[in-house]
Amino acid sequence: MREQLGWYALGHGTPEERAAVRAHLDGCAACRAELAGLTPLTARLAGVDPDRLDEQPAPPAGLGDAVLARIAAEAPLRRRRGTSRRALAAAAVVGIAAAGFGAGWLARPVPDPLPLEPVAVQVAVTDIEARADVVPHTWGVEVRLVGEGFTAGEVYRVVVTDEDGTPVPAGQFLGVGPAELRCNLNSSVLREDATGFRVVDAEGTVVASSQL
Ligand SMILES: [Zn+2]
Repeated sequence: MREQLGWYALGHGTPEERAAVRAHLDGCAACRAELAGLTPLTARLAGVDPDRLDEQPAPPAGLGDAVLARIAAEAPLRRRRGTSRRALAAAAVVGIAAAGFGAGWLARPVPDPLPLEPVAVQVAVTDIEARADVVPHTWGVEVRLVGEGFTAGEVYRVVVTDEDGTPVPAGQFLGVGPAELRCNLNSSVLREDATGFRVVDAEGTVVASSQL
């Protein structure tokens, strides 16, 4: 019956199905408690933006290290106590959890390759070289900037201009000097409305720009 609680909490199911769940809930404190825990989630689900569901899932940072550290921490226990069932079980659980995550990660749906649109970039400063691709997302255009010669430590702002020429912030980056930097900048201007982008230095000078 616990498996039914998800759709029940969301208000799904036929009247008969919902009545059956209600009848069970009347006599089952465990399911009532579980339903009470699910109910706050239903409000939060209403705030989920479906447009963001296609973002690639990434394993939590440091998962691999955490698993290895846990196994390493369990290994001395195992030696000291001989074959401690608890330590073995704990290590096995960690391993199975990691394997499960790995399998889920490998089996994730591979998204279609993004349509990259190479664009010309004009630079206004001799030290700077830059090129860029733009990516049309449902939420706005992304600028994938590749450049070198941006002054190390200086903050650069990127703006995308809309059809009226209004600059819309697309993010900032720090220059890294002669080394190549690759920076993805996201704006809320849709690709068909975007007329260009500009890279502006800390003094407000446009150091690179592109017409879209
Ligand atoms: Zn129950």
